[in-house]
Amino acid sequence: CGIVGYVGRSVDGGINGHSALDVVLEGLRRLEYRGYDSAGVAVVSDGAIESRKKSGKLSNLINELEARPLPETLTGIGHTRWATHGGPTDRNAHPHLADGGKLAVIHNGIIENFAELKQELLEKGVTFLSETDTEVAAALLADILRNQLGGDPANGGLTRAMELACQRLEGAFTLLAVHADQPDVVVAARRNSPLVVGLGEGENFLGSDVSGFIDYTRRAVELGQDQIVTITADSVAITDFFGNPAQGKEYHVDWDP
Ligand code: GLU
Repeated sequence: CGIVGYVGRSVDGGINGHSALDVVLEGLRRLEYRGYDSAGVAVVSDGAIESRKKSGKLSNLINELEARPLPETLTGIGHTRWATHGGPTDRNAHPHLADGGKLAVIHNGIIENFAELKQELLEKGVTFLSETDTEVAAALLADILRNQLGGDPANGGLTRAMELACQRLEGAFTLLAVHADQPDVVVAARRNSPLVVGLGEGENFLGSDVSGFIDYTRRAVELGQDQIVTITADSVAITDFFGNPAQGKEYHVDWDP
């Protein structure tokens, strides 16, 4: 169970420095020690989300990526899963998509009240592809974006949707979300589960722990309980679940991987 997120900066419309997929895969490799049964990634490109996921070792995902490559992009997320709800299958692996495939969500932990939330969403006509609690969080975010925020994820919409979703989620979670209509942003939240930001130059990182980005930066910010962070290539904004500004704890990583 590991989580990685990345946003880099475009120069002249191209990829400058790192490809999100490379950063995310390197982070997942570093996080393998935590244990997992499946792995997956999503990248945001040209107004669309593209995702690959596989049960088993990271090498299975790498093989899948060789067979069906993903584009080089500036924004990406990656996940290793330790199945708690639904068996370790390709379908239950993360990311889980929602909002017509425009939203991708990864999650470590357990959403305790997923059954009642799922029931509520089923009654609204939402369909589910997996048995995971995580897909319920993805569908809840999509429902909030569409029905509470008017369907426009721009202007901080994904962050606001994450706040409103977290107000309803119980249990333990590190959640990361990307949206095709907000391609230069990763939004993350944590409760009873770890999340660290890595500060770069014209790029920023997220990890379950600093191993997720240790190859790229030594400047880390540990998030506090019940916090949300929105990263772009040049900014890191932290709030609580109600949108009030909050602060993490910045520190320097001085050990070598
Ligand atoms: N509860 C989620 C699942 O079973 C996430 C598990 C994890 O922490 O990787 O898919």
